[in-house]
Amino acid sequence: MALALVLNSGSSSIKFQLVNPENSAIDEPYVSGLVEQIGEPNGRIVLKVEGEKYTLETPITDHSEGLNLAFDLMDQHNCGPSQLEITAVGHRVVHGGILFSAPELITDEIVEMIRDLIPLAPLHNPANVDGIDVARKILPDVPHVAVFDTGFFHSLPPAAALYAINKDVAAEHGIRRYGFHGTSHEFVSKRVVEILEKPTEDINTITFHLGNGASMAAVQGGRAVDTSMGMTPLAGLVMGTRSGDLDPGIVFHLSRTAGMSIDEIDNLLNKKSGVKGLSGVNDFRELREMIDNNDQDAWSAYNIYIHQLRRYLGSYMVALGRVDTIVFTAGVGENAQFVREDALAGLEMYGIEIDPERNALPNDGPRLISTDASKVKVFVIPTNEELAIARYAVKFA
Ligand code: AMP
Repeated sequence: MALALVLNSGSSSIKFQLVNPENSAIDEPYVSGLVEQIGEPNGRIVLKVEGEKYTLETPITDHSEGLNLAFDLMDQHNCGPSQLEITAVGHRVVHGGILFSAPELITDEIVEMIRDLIPLAPLHNPANVDGIDVARKILPDVPHVAVFDTGFFHSLPPAAALYAINKDVAAEHGIRRYGFHGTSHEFVSKRVVEILEKPTEDINTITFHLGNGASMAAVQGGRAVDTSMGMTPLAGLVMGTRSGDLDPGIVFHLSRTAGMSIDEIDNLLNKKSGVKGLSGVNDFRELREMIDNNDQDAWSAYNIYIHQLRRYLGSYMVALGRVDTIVFTAGVGENAQFVREDALAGLEMYGIEIDPERNALPNDGPRLISTDASKVKVFVIPTNEELAIARYAVKFA
């Protein structure tokens, strides 16, 4: 069996999966795991092989040691690079700037280009580069492929991509909307076209990627024409811990009046805001429980969350003119039927009508949740970014 290794390297963690690129979207990965707390005293590697879980607790100095230890652990359980045929490695790279519109075969030059983009993604791209460097050393004989979170949004028309700030400052500092979660928006918007068995050009879709991070996209005939995340993943929807859209004047106010530093404001808006900042929790299962117990903060958080989804939905309906399908995906989008119901409530006059029974079906694959009469077909489609990355990677094998 030819497998692709998919790596998602963060600043202190590496997620990895061995994926059969021929899998269907809902098949379990054969092997998956997580190296965590890199650089901390309590490092840990968790490996899952066909339902079995193995854990190794040991300090992990850096990404190189982490990945080497993960490969050793995989070898011990007969699913490592020495036993299996890994034909390609796909790397999730968060920021491709305006340089990358499609997955790229990684060469030294491409690594340098990703490194040059570090100012645009100071938390993510350095870790992505570390992961690439290490994996290329360990597996030098297979193609390594970078798949960019921003790539799908390279096509945004200028009116959607550019901000109304001084154009010289914007050009000098790369300030524009890049969008993120592109692999997921692309995956589910392509999947819905396959399900409908229609030509891609004929289908306009609005995608809701609602996970802990959340974003929406308007996709016209296969091409992304708008998205809610911006120059950074902080913009747009209310998220688990991120604020989403704000009046930028709030940042000046917090700095001048509250005396907060830029790092404190960054931390506030990225880690202590969103649903968590409003209610104390960021998991929608807990939020739902609190709402059921009539917790007013939970209600308030939920209402603000839904209001923002509908604000974007309305603007994308207008941007597209005709909407054929709406797709919900990611942790909240796939599982929280109440979010889907409330996001689309009362829109029958626009041809959007959810079927409550279909909407209540368990999350076990792509499914239609609108009524037969609904002009706009509403789907839940489980996302699978790793599978999408694996499929891209093996194209270079
Ligand atoms: P993701 O970032 O796509 O992994 O999504 C993670 C989020 O999905 C969690 O923080 C939860 O808010 C949400 N989630 C996961 N499972 C469920 C569920 N069964 N019901 C409601 N929300 C869920």
